[in-house]
Amino acid sequence: MALIVKKFGGSSVASLGHIRRVAWAIASAKEKGEQVVVVVSAMGGETDRLLKLSEEITSMPAGREQDALLATGEQACSALLAITLESLGHRAHSFTGMQLPLITDENQSKARIIDLKTDILKKAINDGIIPVVAGFQGVSESGNITTLGRGGSDTTAVALAAALKANCCEIYTDVDGVYTADPNICPKARHIEKIAFSEMLELASLGAKVMHVRSIELAQKFQVPLVVKSSFNGERQTWIVNEEDIMENSIIKGVTLEKNVSKISLIRIPDCPGIAHQILEPLAEAAINVDMIIQNASIDGYTDLTFTIPTTDLNIANELVNKVAREIKALEVRADNNIVKVSAVGIGIKTNPGVAARMFKALSEENINIEMISTSEYRISCVIEEKYGELGVRAVHHAFGLENKNNHQKEQ
Ligand code: ADP
Ligand code: ASP
Ligand code: MG
Repeated sequence: MALIVKKFGGSSVASLGHIRRVAWAIASAKEKGEQVVVVVSAMGGETDRLLKLSEEITSMPAGREQDALLATGEQACSALLAITLESLGHRAHSFTGMQLPLITDENQSKARIIDLKTDILKKAINDGIIPVVAGFQGVSESGNITTLGRGGSDTTAVALAAALKANCCEIYTDVDGVYTADPNICPKARHIEKIAFSEMLELASLGAKVMHVRSIELAQKFQVPLVVKSSFNGERQTWIVNEEDIMENSIIKGVTLEKNVSKISLIRIPDCPGIAHQILEPLAEAAINVDMIIQNASIDGYTDLTFTIPTTDLNIANELVNKVAREIKALEVRADNNIVKVSAVGIGIKTNPGVAARMFKALSEENINIEMISTSEYRISCVIEEKYGELGVRAVHHAFGLENKNNHQKEQ
């Protein structure tokens, strides 16, 4: 009997009506003879609502309490879905990350999975009970509730599929797969039938929130068959596969918009050995991911340093940087969260000169100023002003000829 892990995202369980539809889909899969393990996100908008509540109290809540708060969204949803399944005559049990347990490191709000016990789930399956697991959460070795980062229920689902050696992990969401750009920003984005782990990893880490980054890493590592589907219509889907399983290859696979990005600049800092380390080390210790880094040419022994970090870490980063800035007598620290990052992604970039120039031309034709640039083998990223983000994505998407003539419509 095939064992399938089915993950339903927030928009798929946004109301009791949605939860009922999901319950019917699970029941019909079970009636067809599939063994099903379900993973759910919080009901759509719930995580944001909880975040706003704690923000009303303080801009820097204790990580332990913030995670305890956010985990309730998934816990409530898993219990509601189990209640609905039982009301339809199926046996179902909800499980929190702590009950499994799904053990993580101590990094509150961006914890990584260390171990995942499946005995309780296997027993439920053997007893004919449908397990409904609360995604996005775990418990640290010291007993604190942790969360895996925004969008982390995808990672719970893939980790479970790997641990249970499931035949497939199905990610149900509000779009019918992965597109060449976010179809809600770029209506002419093209549907992708198969995408390589490496490309999906780049797209996800550069803002394509359709899949959580860590879920792709795990699926590749444990070779989990992974598919993205719509909860609302079943015609198309995207398989995420090994590079060698893809026949056709394009220079650019997709264009992304990363909104969770801010920059910090230190003006007039001493240009001498050890300064960059002194500034960035406290950020690394606080598990803050520093992305692009630019240092200006030195003038009279002084220079400027600018780097980007996730906006969700801006308050803590600003505090840490200001402390060092006082020690090294920097003239000024400037923080800016009014920026976004537009990236073009594809394995053809390294072998095709001129890709960067094409991207810069597309942005300049829309009069969009590029504030920072970074490139790697697989991507070119430009930081631009926030208000031009969506326009920038459409311009770059058009410049690389990725458009589809049949416009996509989002299903609700
Ligand atoms: P869920 O709540 O199901 O986890 P998410 O909101 O996390 O759903 O992810 C789905 C959303 O991802 C889509 O509604 C779409 O706006 C966005 N998205 C961003 N980039 C892409 C892309 N390249 N392809 C498809 N969807 C994308
Ligand atoms: N509920 C969490 C979020 O909104 C996790 C998830 O949906 O995967 O980010
Ligand atoms: Mg998601």
